[in-house]
Amino acid sequence: MEKIKMTTPLVEMDGDEMTRILWKMIKEDLLAPYVELNTEYYDLGLEYRNETGDQVTVDAANATKKYKVAVKCATITPNAARMDEYHLKEMYKSPNGTIRSMLDGTVFRAPIVVKGIEPCVKNWKKPITLARHAYGDVYKNTEMVIPGPGRVELVYTAADGTETRELVHNFTGAGVAQGMHNLNDSIESFARSCFEYALSTKQDLWFSTKDTISKKYDHTFKDIFQDIYEKEYKDAFEKAGITYFYTLIDDAVARVMKAEGGFIWACKNYDGDVMSDMVSSAFGSLAMMTSVLVSPHGYFEYEAAHGTVQRHYYKHLKGEETSTNSVATIFAWSGALRKRGELDGNTDLCLFADRLEQATLTTIEKGEMTKDLALITSIKNPSVLNSREFILAVRKNLDVLYA
Ligand code: NAP
Ligand code: MG
Repeated sequence: MEKIKMTTPLVEMDGDEMTRILWKMIKEDLLAPYVELNTEYYDLGLEYRNETGDQVTVDAANATKKYKVAVKCATITPNAARMDEYHLKEMYKSPNGTIRSMLDGTVFRAPIVVKGIEPCVKNWKKPITLARHAYGDVYKNTEMVIPGPGRVELVYTAADGTETRELVHNFTGAGVAQGMHNLNDSIESFARSCFEYALSTKQDLWFSTKDTISKKYDHTFKDIFQDIYEKEYKDAFEKAGITYFYTLIDDAVARVMKAEGGFIWACKNYDGDVMSDMVSSAFGSLAMMTSVLVSPHGYFEYEAAHGTVQRHYYKHLKGEETSTNSVATIFAWSGALRKRGELDGNTDLCLFADRLEQATLTTIEKGEMTKDLALITSIKNPSVLNSREFILAVRKNLDVLYA
C-alpha cells in the first residue's frame, strides 16, 4: 500500500520517561508503516527544556497557533526532586500550564470506552467528556480567619475612586471568610472552547452551575454561555443536530448518573476538579483517559491524561520488563491525525485514525492487554502483554483492516 500523505504538518511535542519510550514505538510500529508523517517536531523532554531555558515549550505553543493541531507526549512537571535528578537551571512551570495559557484553552477529558472494561455506572455506554474551567474561583481566593466579632465587607474601588460595598457578614463571634473572583474574558473563552469542541465532536453540551443560590456570580457564567450560544453558535448547533442546555449542578449530577453518556459536561473550576476525578475513576482507568486542549480560536492539542509513568520507566532503565498501557497515547495520535485530516480534507488520514482506534480496541476486546487492564477486565483469562507486545498486537489488527 502507498503511504498516506499529509499536506500540512502536525505539531509533535515529545516528552519524558516511559511515555517517551512508548511515543517512539507508536511512531515506528503503528504510524510510520502507513503514514508519511509530516510533523514539526519539538522536544519537550525535560533535558531539552532545560537546555533551551524552556523556550522550546513556547515555540511549540506558537507552532500550534500556526498549524492548529498538535499532539503531545506526557512531560515531567519539575519539583525539588527533579531539580537534582536533571540538574535543572530553574524549576520550570508545567508545560501544559504554559501551553494552556498561551492558547487560552480549555481541557476536555474523555474516557476511552471498550468492551471488557466496564464503567462502575452500568448505564454509561458512551464516554462522558468533562470540560473544566481552568481559571479563578476558589483557586485564586483570598481567605481570612475571623478571630472575633466584627464586620466583613467586600469593597470594590473603581478607577475613579468611588467605592461600592457589600456586607459579607456581621460576625458576633469567630469564623472564616473568603473572597474570590472570575473574569468575563476567561468565562467567554471557556464558553467558546466548549461550543467549538461540541461542534467538532458532534456531541451535546451541558453546562451547570449553582445559579439559584449564587444569583450574581454563577448567574454571570450562565448568562455569558447563553449569550454566546444565541449569537454565535445556535445555527451551527441546529445544523449539526446537537443541543446546548443549561441546568443546575444538582440536576446535572442526577442526570449524569442516569444517562447513557455521549455528551460534554462543562463545569466551573471546582466542580470540574471534583467531577472529573469522579467520572474518570468510574470509567475504569487513568490509563484509558484522553485529554484535548481546545482554544476558543480553534486550536487543538491532543494528549493522554496520565503522566510519564515514572515507576515503569525506572524498571525499564534497570532492564526489567514493563507492561505500560499505550492506549491513551495512541488515541492522542489518532485524535490529532483525524483533526488534521478534517481540516485538510484528507479522508485517507481520517480513515487511518478511525482504523488505528478500532485496531486498538479490537486488541483489548480479544483479550490482549497490558497489566493494568488485565487486573480490572471482565474478560476471562486475558493475556498480559508487555509494552512492546501490546503495540505489536495492535499492529497486527491494523494490518488486518488494511489487508
Ligand atoms: P502517572 O505518570 O500518571 O502515573 C501514576 C501511576 O498510575 C503509575 O505509577 C501507574 O501505576 C499508573 N499509570 C498511569 N499511566 C499508566 C499507563 N499508561 N499504564 C499503566 N499504568 C499507568 O503519574 P505520576 O507518577 O504521579 O507522575 C509522573 C510524572 O508525570 C510527574 O513528573 C508529573 O509531573 C508528570 N505528569 C505529567 C502530566 C502531563 O504531561 N499531562 C500529567 C500528570 C503527571 P502503577 O505504578 O501502580 O503501575
Ligand atoms: Mg482533582
